[in-house]
Amino acid sequence: MRFLLSVAVLLLLPPPSGALADCAAPTLRLTASTLQPRQGAIVSVVLRSDVPLASAVLTGEGERVPLEMDASGRVFRGLVGVDFEAPLGKERFEVETTDPCDVSHAASLDLRVLAGAFPSQRLTLEPKYVEPPESEKERIAADHEKVQKAWDSGEEGRRWRGAFSLPVPGTKAGAFGARRVLNGETKSRHAGVDMAAAAGTPVLAAAPARVALAEDLYFSGGTVILDHGGGLFTTYFHLSKIDVRVGDVVAVRQQIGEVGATGRATGPHLHWGARLHGKRVNPLGLLRLTPGPPPARVWKTDQSVKK
Ligand SMILES: [Zn+2]
Repeated sequence: MRFLLSVAVLLLLPPPSGALADCAAPTLRLTASTLQPRQGAIVSVVLRSDVPLASAVLTGEGERVPLEMDASGRVFRGLVGVDFEAPLGKERFEVETTDPCDVSHAASLDLRVLAGAFPSQRLTLEPKYVEPPESEKERIAADHEKVQKAWDSGEEGRRWRGAFSLPVPGTKAGAFGARRVLNGETKSRHAGVDMAAAAGTPVLAAAPARVALAEDLYFSGGTVILDHGGGLFTTYFHLSKIDVRVGDVVAVRQQIGEVGATGRATGPHLHWGARLHGKRVNPLGLLRLTPGPPPARVWKTDQSVKK
């Protein structure tokens, strides 16, 4: 009887960790939707492992990308942004994983960033929007802080699935990344697309989001910043009317304001921008995102696990 009892106790003890069959070093394969993205591109990255992993975190040039694990524990997905002013040439991404026995493994992926095909534009603007008067400097600095606060308020959980929709349907969008000559001087790069539309045209949320900023700013005029979660924001400038407040949760195609010409604008249009993990990317790339399976788990950038 005593012998039987000790066998039962032995069976209850966990085996030594090194002896587990599923703790063999995984074979990792890191792939991207393109290896030669242009400046401003959105790249979708997939990590595949032959055995289930405990965690995976992707890092790149100043970028920490949360990865979503599917139900098998073998496939992880994330989106990488290439800033529209990113240096040309090699950009290395590295993934760090841990297996179920808490042993780390790494894999890397080299992208080659190509120059974006950006136009040049000559614009004539009111002088106060090219050389702002001293009296406006304090306000402009305060605007910067408000926008920075909006970026910092981003939520980890992704609110959207699949492709985004145009905020002003049926219009053409252009001038992404344009080098701008303002009143004869090379002054700025254009970090979004401009969509021509009549004043008062409804502006619709491109995807489900939480409103991170909604107010009038010096350069961008009536401004809405939407936080879509998972490190992705979209911006809407020059609105004549704002229909949402900070903290509101909006559905895709819900009206957030109306097209106007407020702030630094030559006439009524919508300026639409996107920011992914702090990188300024072409929002038109969001129209081509594929849904992918719902994640079983998401790894936050600090590597802790979120249900
Ligand atoms: Zn613009």
